[in-house]
Amino acid sequence: MGWFSPKGPARNHTALLYDRRFLLHDTGWSHPECAQRLGALYGGIKNAGLLDRLLIRTARPAGMKWLEAVHDRSYIQKFKQACKSGEPYFGHSDNAMGKETFEVAKLAVGAVLKATDLVMRGRVRNAFCAVRPPGHHAGRSSALGFCFFNNVAVAARYLQKKWKLSRIAIVDIDVHHGNGTQALFEEDPTVFYYSIHEHPSFAFPGTGREFEEGKGLGVGATKNAPMPPGSSDAEYEYRIRRDLIPVMNDFLPEFVLVSTGFDAHANDEMADMALTDAGYAAVFRVIHAMAHRLCHGRMVSVLEGGYCLPCLARLAADHVRILLDE
Ligand SMILES: [Zn+2]
Repeated sequence: MGWFSPKGPARNHTALLYDRRFLLHDTGWSHPECAQRLGALYGGIKNAGLLDRLLIRTARPAGMKWLEAVHDRSYIQKFKQACKSGEPYFGHSDNAMGKETFEVAKLAVGAVLKATDLVMRGRVRNAFCAVRPPGHHAGRSSALGFCFFNNVAVAARYLQKKWKLSRIAIVDIDVHHGNGTQALFEEDPTVFYYSIHEHPSFAFPGTGREFEEGKGLGVGATKNAPMPPGSSDAEYEYRIRRDLIPVMNDFLPEFVLVSTGFDAHANDEMADMALTDAGYAAVFRVIHAMAHRLCHGRMVSVLEGGYCLPCLARLAADHVRILLDE
C-alpha cells in the first residue's frame, strides 16, 4: 500500500490502544470477563510479529464531560461510590468489580476517544482498542453484561461534538445484542446502529429483534440481524452483505465504530454460533471494505466480548492484519 518505507513505518496505518492498567479491573475468581483475555489477545498480536507495525498508545481517562454526553451524572457518581465502598458488583450481579474498576472503566472510554483523535488527525487510518471492561450493554443509567460505560457510544458523541461529524455508524458483531447502544441511539437518526447477533433461543440479553428499527426520528437508523444458533460462516457473511451494505450506502457514514466481540466463534462457550477464524475474517473484511469505500477507511474497532482465550489470540492477530490492509 506504500505506507511503509524500507527503514520502517514513516506513517502508521493502524494504531493499537492497549494499557496494562486494563488488567487491574478485577472481576474475581472464575469470571469469564477476566484480565487473562487481554493477555491472550495482546500475546496473539505480539507472537504474530505485528507489534512493530502498529502505532501503540496507552490510554488516558475520559473526562466527565464526555462520559456525561452519554451517561447520567447520578449514575456515574453511584458507580464511583459503589467502587470506592468496595461493593463486589455494580448494577447487576454479573457486573463484578474491584476497587480499581471505576478508574479502569474511565480509561477504557479514554482509549477509544484517543483512537478517534488519532484517526481524525490523520495520524493513522484506523485503530483497534483492546480495552476492558467492555461497553455495549451499558445504558444511560444501567450497568449490565460486564459493561459499565458504553465505550463506543461515548466515542460516537465525541466524534459529533468535538470533531463535528454528522453521521456515525456503529457496527456490532459481538454475538450478543448491544442493547445498551441501541437504547442510547434508537431515537437518533445521526447514529446508525447495526447489530448481528444470536437470537432467538435463550441468548442474552433477549433484545435485537428484526422489527426493532428505531423510534421517533430515529426510525430506520437501527437495524438488527438476529441469527439462529449454529449459524455458519457463510450465513453470517451473506447476512451482513445483504443487510449492512445497502443501508450504509444510503446512510453514508463519516466514521465507522465497530463493537468487536469475538464470542460468535464456534469454540466460545458463551454462545452457540459456528463461526471459524476464516468466517470472522470474512465478516470483518466486509466492514473494513465498506469503511474504505464510504469514509476514507476511518474506523475504530473496540473490543467487546470474546471468552475463548486461544481464539482471542488468533482472532485479534487476524483482525489487526485486516486493519493493516493485509
Ligand atoms: Zn458478547
